[in-house]
Amino acid sequence: MDKNLFKMDKLTIGTIPIIDTHIHTTNVANISYEWSSACPELFKDWTIEQYHGDTNKLNICKGIFVEVAASTFEKETKWIQSISSNEKSIIKGIVAHVPLNRPFDFVDEYLNDILSEKIVGVRQLFQSETNLLNPFYLEKSYIESLQLLAKKNLVFEICIYADHLPSVTNLVGQTPDNRYVLDHIGKPFTQVNENTDNKWFDHMLRLSLNPNIFCKLSAGFMVKSKTLLDAKPYINHCIKLFGVDRLIVGSDWFFSRSLVEPKEWFEFLLEVFEENQFDNQTIRKIFYDNAIKIYSLKIDSPK
Ligand SMILES: [Zn+2]
Repeated sequence: MDKNLFKMDKLTIGTIPIIDTHIHTTNVANISYEWSSACPELFKDWTIEQYHGDTNKLNICKGIFVEVAASTFEKETKWIQSISSNEKSIIKGIVAHVPLNRPFDFVDEYLNDILSEKIVGVRQLFQSETNLLNPFYLEKSYIESLQLLAKKNLVFEICIYADHLPSVTNLVGQTPDNRYVLDHIGKPFTQVNENTDNKWFDHMLRLSLNPNIFCKLSAGFMVKSKTLLDAKPYINHCIKLFGVDRLIVGSDWFFSRSLVEPKEWFEFLLEVFEENQFDNQTIRKIFYDNAIKIYSLKIDSPK
């Protein structure tokens, strides 16, 4: 009898090819950051070399840079474009900050200015908006600028606290031609209004009914008071709602590294996928292939 029939090809986190879709880096000498005084402990240079050091036990093949709320966002985009232009750079996509709340003509011109193969998406943080009934991102002019992104084949990344979910569901439903990625599974442990009931489970169900939204299983929702065990039902809920084709993974390095290191995070995700009895091909898809499709990355699958 062929012994190989019984040989399980067990995946380990060190060998699975990963596209880390949520990497932040900084350059404090040349770029100003809105959060520099709110998070002084993080306000320093975080380089791609440090990222490689922190992830050297993982098989991170490619990465997506995500904007870091720079007030000098033009400089940030130019800088990351220049350092990622080196062929050896793992950064194969950039989610740039674009202030879509500025006049339409500015947004259109600015997008045309920065557009290159590497720019795959746009983000402008929604999370600190306190008006949940009429948030700035539901204004007609904002939606018109968002629709420009669909024409330019750019993803928009939604970064919110949990109680923004109903407004965001409204936005996603109104713009079916846009493609969205929900960062950090909609931050279930954090709300703008701490006093209201947290209905994350129900609200995520409604949001997921829109086929144009994808869910990023990234660590940016973790808070000091919660463990990975606490996070598990939330990840399982996302798996149930979004299915294996609409999930991607991200470390949220450097922001989340003091709460959960990339290796610990990706190991945890692998454990959850195995508990869901996903086969190896499905696991590889969530860790790698789905990101290529969602961001239209011009790269090949590893052998
Ligand atoms: Zn982040």
